[in-house]
Amino acid sequence: MRDEQLLHNIRNIYGKIARSALRAGRNPEEIRLIAVTKTIDSNTIKRAIDIGLRDFGENRVQEARDKISDLVSHIPVGTVAWHLIGHLQKNKAKIAVELFDLIHAVDSHELAQALNKHAEKIGKRQKILVQVKLSDEESKFGILKEKMYNLLECLGGMRNLKTEGLMTMPPLFDDPERVRPYFCELRKLRDELESSGYALPGLSMGMTNDFEVAIQEGATMVRVGTGIFGERGN
Ligand SMILES: *Cc1c(COP(=O)(O)O)cnc(C)c1O
Repeated sequence: MRDEQLLHNIRNIYGKIARSALRAGRNPEEIRLIAVTKTIDSNTIKRAIDIGLRDFGENRVQEARDKISDLVSHIPVGTVAWHLIGHLQKNKAKIAVELFDLIHAVDSHELAQALNKHAEKIGKRQKILVQVKLSDEESKFGILKEKMYNLLECLGGMRNLKTEGLMTMPPLFDDPERVRPYFCELRKLRDELESSGYALPGLSMGMTNDFEVAIQEGATMVRVGTGIFGERGN
């Protein structure tokens, strides 16, 4: 993709974020744009960094590791935040803790324990989100709402994890209005948990097709790939 096209796409997404936030009576600065770079090469990521993007989401640990090591010479440590947005297997917890600032898809006690253990070993407080499954049939991953209290209790005792909020992957619909109820449900769940004393400020929800609706429903992080980098060639 040409530089001008990339710049145009990024401006376009930021414009839409700002407009949806304002329309919902929210401050656009509350919303973090996570550029989803799965299948996108390091050189393109470098250009996105130069344009000013600072948050990047990958869904595979190995792929992220290769790109992060490609980019270390280009960016001072700590200027860019890496997000693991895809499902994580327990046996990759160690590398994930080494690589990612925020792990979005924690959905079991066992995975949390593995992350906590590795974070402790390297003296890190790993930020995480809990992935919630709101529809039984559609999503493979995520924890059911009924099991949330239990997991949050356990997480409270894991000193090297910092739970910052919730994430969800609703079923895919062409019409974003059909996704709205899922976003709304996640926010309500968050509000309910907060009123029980759990601090969960972050809501990671919304992708290219539906991030504006997600913002109207309270998203604080939107994960946008196609809208920035174009259709993925896979
Ligand atoms: C790929 C992916 C996205 C981005 O999807 P687009 O439709 O390209 O914006 C967001 N979240 C997750 C978890 C993904 O795997």
